[in-house]
Amino acid sequence: MVYSENLIHAVGNTPLIKLRRASEETGCTILGKAEFMNPAQSVKDRAALFLIEDALERGAIQRGGVIVEGTAGNTGIGLAALGSAFGLRTVIVMPDTQSIEKKDAVRALGAKLVEVPAVPYANPNNYVHYSRRLAEALAKTESKGAVWANQFDNVANRDGHARTTAEEIWQQTGGKVDGFASAVGTGGTLAGIALGLRSRSASVKIALADPPGASLYSYYTRGVLEAHGSSITEGIGQSRITRNLEGFSPDFSFEIPDTDSIPLVHRLVVEEGLCLGGSSGVNIAGAVALARSLGPGHVVVTMLCDSGTRYQSKLFNPSFLASKDLPVPAWLSAEDVSVP
Ligand code: PMP
Repeated sequence: MVYSENLIHAVGNTPLIKLRRASEETGCTILGKAEFMNPAQSVKDRAALFLIEDALERGAIQRGGVIVEGTAGNTGIGLAALGSAFGLRTVIVMPDTQSIEKKDAVRALGAKLVEVPAVPYANPNNYVHYSRRLAEALAKTESKGAVWANQFDNVANRDGHARTTAEEIWQQTGGKVDGFASAVGTGGTLAGIALGLRSRSASVKIALADPPGASLYSYYTRGVLEAHGSSITEGIGQSRITRNLEGFSPDFSFEIPDTDSIPLVHRLVVEEGLCLGGSSGVNIAGAVALARSLGPGHVVVTMLCDSGTRYQSKLFNPSFLASKDLPVPAWLSAEDVSVP
């Protein structure tokens, strides 16, 4: 019999899928790591696992205890699912601007969801600070412990990606990976995979793909944390150097506007059969830009972070897209009767 002992063992070892159109356009092999195939359906299942294991190993929490986190949603969904598999309860704090689908998933997985207004990190009521205070308050009353997962500044996140995700990419490409590109939320994915791949190969090139509204593109190109514009993408767009990003710097940085990433998300549906979230659009656009910088014949990997179904009411909703001045694909509009 071949089976996973429990949900925990089903995290990771996701397939690498060749992105045909992006590969043809660049003359490179562009591969997407299918993170939406994790058990709770996003790349953040990995971070959830690393953070839970870290809390248990440190003795910060025991079975029956509570794990608390501030998240754009996917980490919360991962923590809720894996938390149950570990015998933990979960309390999730999310900014109210995030998609209804992610909020519903957190609730459906049995976690307690606390929605807070979306305010900048400098504001003490920002979801990250709110979740830390909530964890501190719960720790006083929970006999089995309550712990703040702290995905942004707990380097168990980055180190887990270095040890596992990067190693999977190395093994799956037979060591033939020339570049890796990704957006940043906590930085765990980008900095961790950079650490892991660079320890395997001195020549591998790492690229940041940043949406407008984030400050990292300006930081890595001009040395200043400065933001302009905005993006409808969720789960990415960082305004500070988190602890997971400390000591990291990319070889290339690209800024990817929504007018590039969102039409790309729509094209992926028709051209590849992949229905993905906005951050995957930013990632693939970043991988294409990196492939163009490296030239034909190279192998570039990126992350397919989560499914588009997590953003059905936004990315696949004609009136939402129109309200953001983004193009609506003909096949999404009710009047269109042609076969895409
Ligand atoms: N894409 C999505 C959809 C996410 O939810 C996140 C995590 N917030 C990321 C990308 C970024 O990953 P990381 O936190 O590892 O930088």
